[in-house]
Amino acid sequence: MTRARFARTIATMSRRPFVGGNWKMNTDLATGVALAQAIDSRWNQSQDAVDVVLFPPFPYLQAVGRAMSGGVVSLGAQDLSSEANGALTGEVSAEMLTDVGVTWVLVGHSERRHKLCEPNSVVADKFAMAIESGLSVVLCVGETQAERSAGQANHVVGRQLKSAFERVSPESLAKIVIAYEPVWAIGTGVVATPHDAEEAHQEIRGFIGSRYDPELAAGIRIVYGGSLAPGHAKTLFSVPGVDGGLVGGASLQANDFLSICSSAMIGIVAG
Ligand code: PEP
Repeated sequence: MTRARFARTIATMSRRPFVGGNWKMNTDLATGVALAQAIDSRWNQSQDAVDVVLFPPFPYLQAVGRAMSGGVVSLGAQDLSSEANGALTGEVSAEMLTDVGVTWVLVGHSERRHKLCEPNSVVADKFAMAIESGLSVVLCVGETQAERSAGQANHVVGRQLKSAFERVSPESLAKIVIAYEPVWAIGTGVVATPHDAEEAHQEIRGFIGSRYDPELAAGIRIVYGGSLAPGHAKTLFSVPGVDGGLVGGASLQANDFLSICSSAMIGIVAG
């Protein structure tokens, strides 16, 4: 496929938008349940053109899952073990997650990569385990400010992708969302410009195109994360190749999160 035809395919390819709410280590049981109930009850079937997923802390997964009776918002976990079971104090397996109704999992979030020192190899093992276990996965990638300033952004993200996708079959791509989350934008109030986001998403899609094939690259969902808020979600979601978002801080307020989810409907046909 020529470059021009690839660009046309991406522009016309319909990808279902995705918005995830990563609660991180926030909420308590009561506020988490109330937040999930508010989001679930107000995100109704008529808006079911967007995949909306909540990622509460581990201890609240079951209660949050029960609070979402509408069936249109899915339950996700923020992490999983790379191992199936065994003597691994504090770890949570894919099977345990599935057992309590989890269908999505985050892998490689920058806070785990940088604050909890998770290297690419561990992220790749967790990614493989999640896929093998039938979970849908959001793989987070992104560069630090220092890496960007050194002109290394594409190289760093490329390495993260290469390592993660080494063992992934083409058939698994349908259950994968890639989140481009520049570390300098996470929780900082600094948002990537539409141009930065477009360029990074193009690079990521280009990687999938060369690792697999252009048709698969045109089909995979790539979302943006980093200080997303209601005021600029629409602008970012209108960027060609941006298929929704992963939201941290703003996912803790039902109104803000729902506004961001509604903004994602703009991207029903990515353009
Ligand atoms: C995140 O945690 O993935 C994130 C994007 O956080 P925030 O929206 O707070 O920057």
